[in-house]
Amino acid sequence: MIVIKFGGTSVGSVDALRQAIEIVGAARERKPIVVVSALSGVTNHLVEATELACLGDLPGVQKIVATLRQRHEEIAFALVQQKSDYLESFLAQLGKHIDQIADILKGIALVGDVSPRAKDKIVAIGEKLSSVLFAYTMRLRMLKGVHIDSEDVVVTDANYGEATPDVKKTREAAAKVLLPEIERDHIPVMGGFIGRSTTGATTTLGRGGSDYSAAIIGAAVGAEEIQIWTDVDGMMTCDPRVIKSARVIDEISYVEAAELAYFGAKVLHPKTIWPAVELQIPIRVLNTHNVSSPGTLITATGVAGSSGPRAIAIKKDITVVHITSNQMLGAYGFLAKIFEIFARLQTPVDLITTSEVSVSLTIDRTDRLRELVHELQPFANVNVVDEQAIIALVGRNLMSDASIGKRIFASLENIPVTMISLGSSDLNLSLVMEARLGDVALQQLHRALFELSSEEAA
Ligand code: ASP
Ligand code: MG
Repeated sequence: MIVIKFGGTSVGSVDALRQAIEIVGAARERKPIVVVSALSGVTNHLVEATELACLGDLPGVQKIVATLRQRHEEIAFALVQQKSDYLESFLAQLGKHIDQIADILKGIALVGDVSPRAKDKIVAIGEKLSSVLFAYTMRLRMLKGVHIDSEDVVVTDANYGEATPDVKKTREAAAKVLLPEIERDHIPVMGGFIGRSTTGATTTLGRGGSDYSAAIIGAAVGAEEIQIWTDVDGMMTCDPRVIKSARVIDEISYVEAAELAYFGAKVLHPKTIWPAVELQIPIRVLNTHNVSSPGTLITATGVAGSSGPRAIAIKKDITVVHITSNQMLGAYGFLAKIFEIFARLQTPVDLITTSEVSVSLTIDRTDRLRELVHELQPFANVNVVDEQAIIALVGRNLMSDASIGKRIFASLENIPVTMISLGSSDLNLSLVMEARLGDVALQQLHRALFELSSEEAA
């Protein structure tokens, strides 16, 4: 069994949908379960419609509902192409869901308020519609797609808008609902993002939650692989908007991907794939619009023996706080005292380096910086430096392999680095520098680590 998940742009147009169906057809022998996002942009529209309903703007709501109806119907027409009973029942299915949502929105407009529970019911409709669309389209291609209500499979808590699935209960439900279909050689098609609480209400798993659905469903059925089909070739060695020569990472471990997520280099959020990673189910990120590209494979531990850098990422708008105090000398409890202040003022600390009498750390949230400095000053000298950047190099054995370190520092010879932090796992080497030097440093590092051979770079 495999899980095949399509993101919004992979189902957002007639061409994309056709392509997606091809992909499922080609994987037929592997007993696929299909999970789909809403058509691109639809969830945003549903959120907007809910907000307008709360403001009592009924015409605004109706406009959005009409647009949603039209977009889904147009795709259905384009796929079926001629009037038929099949098209009628297809449209009736789509219409039923849209009518239901229109009614709920009308109710909200009357009351002028929406409960979190009703809101989930509304935003979930995007995935309802896309999955119905997908299942019908599969039948047109002679594939035995069956639409399965995600509510009947994904069991969650009642934390609306950000519900957490219960893997054990989902496994039991999947055994009852999904496995018999697969036995019959059917291909289940489900909406991502949606679940049902144990109290029976529709829930959603948080924005971008369809990846989470794919992971949970994969974990529930013990899939051999989870494929995340999207609109890029995979995870990249660097942001291709900054580094033109960035290339696709063929294979990366889960922890490496998690390190990169902080830097916004997330094709998918590592947190959401954890249920699958924990069970060692490999995850493949693939491009619906470029099927011949091999994509990126994410595994729990990475491929044995493969060492070296995987990717570099940058985060700007970083503030460095240098804290120096003689009280640190030979003392204990000093760091606890400092971090207690950061904790109380709810400011996350990212990088830390220490020496005998000083601590330097980076933060990216500065809304309580003045209070922080005020509380630190009675026992330390505090020096705040803003407009800094962190460049993170993620990979394996970054420093235990001396040649890598040599390449890194040789490539940075003209760039003053003010902090260096090597993760305890030899997995993340982070460098802090002035933000204005960040892009140049990134280019030089990318060239040395990913574009030149080791002899050239040394
Ligand atoms: N449609 C949902 C969203 O836009 C979930 C997803 O696409 O993964 O957030
Ligand atoms: Mg997405």
